[in-house]
Amino acid sequence: MKKSLFSIIAFVALVMTACNGQKAEETGGPADKILLKDFAPVVVNNLPVTYVERAKYDIIDMHAHDYAATEEEIAQWCKTMDEVGVLNTAVMHCSWIGRPFEEYVAAYDAHKDRFRFWCCFDYTDMSEEGIQKACETLERYHEMGAIGVGELGDKGEGDTYARPGDGTGIHIDDPRIQPLIAKAGELKMPISIHIAEPYWMYLPMDETNDGLLNAVVWHVDTTNCLGYNALVQTFENALRENPNTIFIACHYLNMSHDWPRLGALLDKYPNMYVDIAARVAESAHTPRATREFLIKYQDRVLFGTDNGMSPEMYRTIFRVLESNDEHFYCPELGYHWALSGFNLPDEVLKKIYHDNAERILTEYK
Ligand SMILES: [Zn+2]
Repeated sequence: MKKSLFSIIAFVALVMTACNGQKAEETGGPADKILLKDFAPVVVNNLPVTYVERAKYDIIDMHAHDYAATEEEIAQWCKTMDEVGVLNTAVMHCSWIGRPFEEYVAAYDAHKDRFRFWCCFDYTDMSEEGIQKACETLERYHEMGAIGVGELGDKGEGDTYARPGDGTGIHIDDPRIQPLIAKAGELKMPISIHIAEPYWMYLPMDETNDGLLNAVVWHVDTTNCLGYNALVQTFENALRENPNTIFIACHYLNMSHDWPRLGALLDKYPNMYVDIAARVAESAHTPRATREFLIKYQDRVLFGTDNGMSPEMYRTIFRVLESNDEHFYCPELGYHWALSGFNLPDEVLKKIYHDNAERILTEYK
């Protein structure tokens, strides 16, 4: 009996040695050679693949920019919007894309029923008199058709999306710009603001960073500027101090990693909304938690794209919002994560696609 037990142990040891030997041979194999940036898995699961050609309900896109450089491109954009089901699109003003406000308003004039214009705060002169002039500029832009303010953008160094003028060092709770925020509220112009970046962009760039592939592009060095929590605090200060101004936090306030925290802010500040723009990957890898959030806050979420004008860009977002598809990749979004659809109920879809934006842009007036 003892002898046969010894034989079994010896056999197991032999097999384990053989396995270890195989592992040793694998050193220098694919796992050591393939770089994360080259990882491009192909789904083999036999799963439903939903192609949503046109959104289930008419859409108001609350987050885009001056992407179309020519009259022909604007006309093509309208054609795409017709095909995919977008009624109209917010063309937001900012420092890093598109023309100065007056120029793009003129460029889109022939299609002004399809586009809504947004303008920035003018920081050219930050003296008290300068800010008064900036308030007058805001009124002038409003008369020219601007329905909102944005996209403002602060990734730590201040509102560097501002145009004209340099917004470096100017955060949304800066006392100097409070007259501008109050003026926006008075004119019933919502303020759309990009605060911070997805949380992974603030984490160490090592093997523990879940969003490493995208963080490679968007990593934020906070050595000389505000970090994530300090930035969120500036936004919260502005929400608290300006209850009569509506704020739209772009990209889920870059807080899609922490739905309870984002929900708590929405609970606390009725003047706050979020848009879903350009955060498909950051939300569709946690489809159940995201779905729960979108259902709970269905009156406070706005549709936005922020990602160009191609029909397939829209359709990827529709697939995520509408379908129940599982485990598909969108490497163009910059992550190595597999995504899944939210399968949102019809009434929630309709609010996010259209009704919430319509309410802000009409009833708020
Ligand atoms: Zn944007």
